[in-house]
Amino acid sequence: MHTFLPFQVDLEHFIEKLQNHIHANTKQVEELLAIENKNYANFVRPLGMLGERLEEFFTPLSHINAVCNSEKTQEIYAQALPIITEYSTQLSQNLAVYEAFKEIQAKESEHLNQEQKRVLELNILHFELSGAHLDAQTKERLQEINLRKSELSNDFSQNLLDATNAYEYIITDPKDVEGLPQSDKENAAFEDEGVTKYRFTLQMPSYIAYMTYGKNETIREELYKAYVTRAPQNEAIVEELLALRAEMSKLLGYENYAAYSLASKMAPDTQSVLSFLQTLAAKSKKQAQNELAQMQKLSQKPLRSFDTAYYGELLKKEQYELDEELYRPYFEQQNVLRGMFEFLDKLFGISFEKVEEPLWDPKASAYYLYVQGTLKAKIYFDLEARKSKRGGAWMHNWQSHCKDEAGKEHLASAFVVCNFPPSSANTKSLLRHDDVVTLFHEMGHTLHHLLSDVNENEVSGVNGVEWDAVEFPSQFLENFAYERSVLQMFAKHYKTGEVLPDAMIQKLIDAKNFLSALGMLRQLEFSLFDFLLHTKPHTAQEMQELLDTIRKETSLISPPSYNKFQNGFSHIFAGGYAAGYYSYKWAEVLSADAYYNIIDEGVFESPTAKRYRDIILSKGGSQSMQELFFELMQREVNPQNLLRLNGIEG
Ligand SMILES: [Zn+2]
Repeated sequence: MHTFLPFQVDLEHFIEKLQNHIHANTKQVEELLAIENKNYANFVRPLGMLGERLEEFFTPLSHINAVCNSEKTQEIYAQALPIITEYSTQLSQNLAVYEAFKEIQAKESEHLNQEQKRVLELNILHFELSGAHLDAQTKERLQEINLRKSELSNDFSQNLLDATNAYEYIITDPKDVEGLPQSDKENAAFEDEGVTKYRFTLQMPSYIAYMTYGKNETIREELYKAYVTRAPQNEAIVEELLALRAEMSKLLGYENYAAYSLASKMAPDTQSVLSFLQTLAAKSKKQAQNELAQMQKLSQKPLRSFDTAYYGELLKKEQYELDEELYRPYFEQQNVLRGMFEFLDKLFGISFEKVEEPLWDPKASAYYLYVQGTLKAKIYFDLEARKSKRGGAWMHNWQSHCKDEAGKEHLASAFVVCNFPPSSANTKSLLRHDDVVTLFHEMGHTLHHLLSDVNENEVSGVNGVEWDAVEFPSQFLENFAYERSVLQMFAKHYKTGEVLPDAMIQKLIDAKNFLSALGMLRQLEFSLFDFLLHTKPHTAQEMQELLDTIRKETSLISPPSYNKFQNGFSHIFAGGYAAGYYSYKWAEVLSADAYYNIIDEGVFESPTAKRYRDIILSKGGSQSMQELFFELMQREVNPQNLLRLNGIEG
């Protein structure tokens, strides 16, 4: 008998049921803590299952709120969130739980399996990274630091937002908007005493539109200058923030914030991160120079920072422009889905069977997933855009593969959500190639969750996977959406059945790799800056010097000295990426490396593909990805394959 939960959300009684659930959980945590002789079986696993069941109860609400949003779902969700947050905050600060984990680890470690050891390690690490185990005085200081840090991050964002909103540039001469796409022109246009004028701002779509298509270089420079000099007061905020991060890391026992950040990540140490970034930068440079030279041919004057988007676009039009509309008929949604299933079956030996059952929307569907004929998991697809659905695409895990207190096996389930063009009785949903890539990406996350063989729910599937490794399986699968032999399986014209011609496939690849070395250098510049910045506190001046030094290696056009990019680097000063921006590239390197191993073995004949399923996908978060990757490849990661994936001959 399988153990999939029926999908249902009882909005009317949700809050009442949630409160009962939490009340019961709280009582059970107390009972568990009261056990005299605690061990893994009578304490850790039951505690883990309490969390699992609460998630199982809560996930359908957050799913429905995202895909069938209404005033009612918003209201219930808003009521539920503080209840669940309060419960999990209390649990995460409960020192008695921490001490029980430590005690069980000391007492029982030798008899536990890898998965169970990992559960203990991660739980203990989680407590220790928050300082919950430290003395009262240190904890008090940490609390002050955290409070101040969030104020500073908030001010950073607010200053940036205010500066972004305070600026506008009005164009009165219609010649200056020639060449802009009609929609961008319409968005910018307004009437002023019977004259049409154009307003450009520092909001992303407007700014990008002029920088990419605007042919007046004086205006481009004006806009650029306004953009890169936003929020000068953020300089002081950043200084204080860096000092606080350094202090916090020291209090928690780490040499610097970079080391603190890596404690919960896959990358083993700061030196590995730096050398991987520096290797990629050195190897991308030559091709980046060639790319820049190609752009330079289109201009009489030496290119400057505010020219690159514009000349990049000109070059693209000349050489690499794809007409997405020509591709759409080859990517009819149901063909793509069936083709993807067929591909996954050939690669991993997994198959899908449709389940007929009522779901939250008639367009949603459910499938059972089988591994070599055995029922393994359940997957829900909700692929088409509609008004009540949040934009974007994502995977949302619901149940996790595990064994409960009674030793009963639970199977995993997950939702795949996209926003593809809606189909109707008379129209098919025809995708862009980018949509196909998105579907493969989300499917990569999904399989990481669903193919888990792990028995401990807290490290099963995507649970417990390190932050810098989470995108590895998704980017890995995404790469196959550019692979000829895979595309030929399903990229068939929905009317004629004609297979997508080779030349059109090549164009997809060329367009993907357009100016890839320049793009690579830019990402590496951000990553290096972020990471080095967090190896010690920096004053504003030292920060600028650091940036200038990095740019000698990564920036082929020196930005003007007024450029204060750092004052707008929200990812690391107001988001969660501090000393973690490198993760984007880190996961790409893993995915490119594993991918080419399989390609070079002949794709469907590849023994590495099955090993990937059995090592990377089935072991989820039960081991560090550093170890799993080594087990898969029998060697350290090779960054060269990322260059190859990007068409960079470094
Ligand atoms: Zn992703």
